[in-house]
Amino acid sequence: MLIVMRHDATPEQVQAVVDVINEMGYEARPMPGKQRTAVGLVGNDGKVNADRLESLGGVLEIIHVSQPYKQVSREWRDEPTIVELPNGTRIGGSEIAVMAGPCSVESEAQIVGVAQRLREAGATILRGGAFKPRTSPYAFQGMGEAGLKLLALARQESGMSIVTEALDEESLALVAAYADIIQIGARNMQNFSLLRRAGRTGKPILLKRGMAATVKDLLLSAEYVLAEGNGQVILCERGVRGFDTHTRNLLDLTAIPVVKSLSHLPIIADPSHGTGLRAKVIPMARAAVAAGADGLMVEVHPDPERAMSDGAQSLYPEQFEELMEQIAVIAEAIGRELVPSLTGRPVRAVV
Ligand code: PEP
Ligand code: MN
Repeated sequence: MLIVMRHDATPEQVQAVVDVINEMGYEARPMPGKQRTAVGLVGNDGKVNADRLESLGGVLEIIHVSQPYKQVSREWRDEPTIVELPNGTRIGGSEIAVMAGPCSVESEAQIVGVAQRLREAGATILRGGAFKPRTSPYAFQGMGEAGLKLLALARQESGMSIVTEALDEESLALVAAYADIIQIGARNMQNFSLLRRAGRTGKPILLKRGMAATVKDLLLSAEYVLAEGNGQVILCERGVRGFDTHTRNLLDLTAIPVVKSLSHLPIIADPSHGTGLRAKVIPMARAAVAAGADGLMVEVHPDPERAMSDGAQSLYPEQFEELMEQIAVIAEAIGRELVPSLTGRPVRAVV
């Protein structure tokens, strides 16, 4: 439930609303905003009797949020959430942010070298897994903390922000200490205790859609993070399981406009895991931007044939450069632009 305050409500009147909510046994979330000041009421399971609140001074209206996800919904907050990273990248506004890098961090030469090329091409966020969720227990599981250290080195050399996955509660504290964005992978989308703990770190969270999750499930998982007081969540469509074996997953591009209408949170697309095939990544990345995605996550490897994971879906750096030029044109066509590059040079638009 949302208690919307009048424009001329005094801080004392807002406090009185907070006090009554607390007395009723719920949690109050004051939300001073540009357009309106409101106080959110959370912690209720079912409808709240609003009689006491309605009669308080300064209260304009009471909105019962109809969706099961409350703080994530557009009813709760209409302004888009913008996640801002230490290097100035903003995700969720008019700019399109690009996260790129290998599936796994493998060596210093690999990650520092590719970061340099990605930065030159205009990407501002570097991805790379140090803790990998692999289907087989015998497959490469990631470099662990050594990989995080290499990501930090690549950040220092390139100025890019870094996003990397926390696989479990054990790796979470380590990942939080190094990363600018903590990734919660598809397989962990409904690991609710991990979501709560990740929320409590206060760091931006990239939440990937589970491969059998509905959009509603995704938004309810995001609600776990917001319920911990962390509103810095970026959603990611990365494909769901389909019945057609031509691609690894079915990249659900409709989820992008659907999420946009239901939530104020930014949503990006991952056409690499979404297709599993290098040749399909560029067309689907272009389509995702055209569909209104706030950004992309793309796997790029300097030598995909030798990649320790996901080589078949990793772009060559030259292909990534081409993709950046193409999405710069698409962004412009829909009244958006790419996040300014770290080199100060605009991404060249090829027409
Ligand atoms: C990844 O980004 O490398 C990854 C494992 O993604 P997902 O959780 O979407 O499979
Ligand atoms: Mn991968």
